[in-house]
Amino acid sequence: MCYWCKDLRRTCSRAPTVNDMMFVFGEHLEVTSCFSDYLDKLGVKPGQFEAKLNLWELRTTIVEALTKDYVQHSPFLLDWLGKWEKMNLDGSLTLDASAEHMQKLFRHLLAAGTGGHYFSFCRNGVVEQRRYWHCVQCDEPGCRTREFGHCDRCDGCRRFFNGECESCISDESD
Ligand SMILES: [Zn+2]
Ligand SMILES: [Zn+2]
Ligand SMILES: [Zn+2]
Repeated sequence: MCYWCKDLRRTCSRAPTVNDMMFVFGEHLEVTSCFSDYLDKLGVKPGQFEAKLNLWELRTTIVEALTKDYVQHSPFLLDWLGKWEKMNLDGSLTLDASAEHMQKLFRHLLAAGTGGHYFSFCRNGVVEQRRYWHCVQCDEPGCRTREFGHCDRCDGCRRFFNGECESCISDESD
């Protein structure tokens, strides 16, 4: 299912193509909606990742955010950062090794539904999937905690009580 159009088609023109996925991950994995939305804001549209996206810059953005905050890191990330620092220090860093190491990070943080965590460009850090999600339907898309859901009726992210949106409930009582 495409998270953009909520259609049953697996991909639509608003979703990244298989080539896009291969370019970023080296395998056929779907990108998180947060990442996809971030690229959209950068002007990198589906089908253009290879032509327009600088993966080395992307890695730098993520690594800078990760090194600011070690607190919430999973064993995977600590291991990844440790190896990355070592490769940079001991001269074992080759272009191939760097690219391979980079893709491991992308697969872990930018692919939908893999690690239990994802990199939130909205929050500039790693967040837990069970606590956060990224809404693309709002006028101001972004990562929200799971206390909020998107209401199609008033077209915003709200708290829901017994399946009803807090904003729509209060409208009815007016
Ligand atoms: Zn987000
Ligand atoms: Zn509502
Ligand atoms: Zn929303």
